Amino acid sequence: MNGQFELRERYAAVLRQINDACALANRSPDSVRLLAVSKTFSAAEVLALAQLGQRAFGENYLQEALPKMASIHAERPDLPLEWHFIGPIQSNKTRPIAESFAWVHSVERLKIAERLNDQRPAGMPALNVCLQVNVSAEASKSGCAPEEAANLAGAIAMLPNLRLRGLMTIPEAAADPSLHSRRFAVLRRLFEELRARGLALDTLSMGMSSDLQTAIAEGSTMVRVGSAIFGTRATKLA
Ligand SMILES: *Cc1c(COP(=O)(O)O)cnc(C)c1O
Repeated sequence: MNGQFELRERYAAVLRQINDACALANRSPDSVRLLAVSKTFSAAEVLALAQLGQRAFGENYLQEALPKMASIHAERPDLPLEWHFIGPIQSNKTRPIAESFAWVHSVERLKIAERLNDQRPAGMPALNVCLQVNVSAEASKSGCAPEEAANLAGAIAMLPNLRLRGLMTIPEAAADPSLHSRRFAVLRRLFEELRARGLALDTLSMGMSSDLQTAIAEGSTMVRVGSAIFGTRATKLA
């Protein structure tokens, strides 16, 4: 459990890192959004961070996220929190994702996008999605291949109940920061290519606790940060 004081300090430190990285890259500080990744952390911890002003939260596991979101909403129905799904998606789990989230960062197949589109409830705004791309050329990692991205993005952009916002990636774990820098640069080039083809994309979801400055230097517009804000995760869930 984290004290509110530590949470405040860590949150302030992450906001400072984002600002500093923007300044170094000659970018405006409001060109990067912070997504607080709350997987494995409690509803009380999410509420404590919301109390400090954070509004966008990311979750990976539906079984964990749905009851947490429900209890937070029950306690503070007035808080306009924005929930992002960032974990792997099984096709039999698309309905609750389409019903409960504002964003999905981890779309990697057209079939999943089509199900989310079909299952997005009428009357809700279009579901914001990012196409997850595997820029690490590693069979074990999720995400579509960079060569498939243009076709997939074109098809997803046609779905009326989804709004394709951009691209997301999780580079392989690497001790060498220059490797992540190269991976992020690949995603950014792909993003620029898709925009040049006419897709109205505005989001590059890249960078986590350990590499957010590198990601911002390479053009990230949304960093997904968990442990640097909430502290070390107690479980081994990645
Ligand atoms: C867990 C997770 C994060 C946050 O990781 P930290 O290293 O704790 O910042 C970001 N993105 C995804 C997809 C994750 O699963």
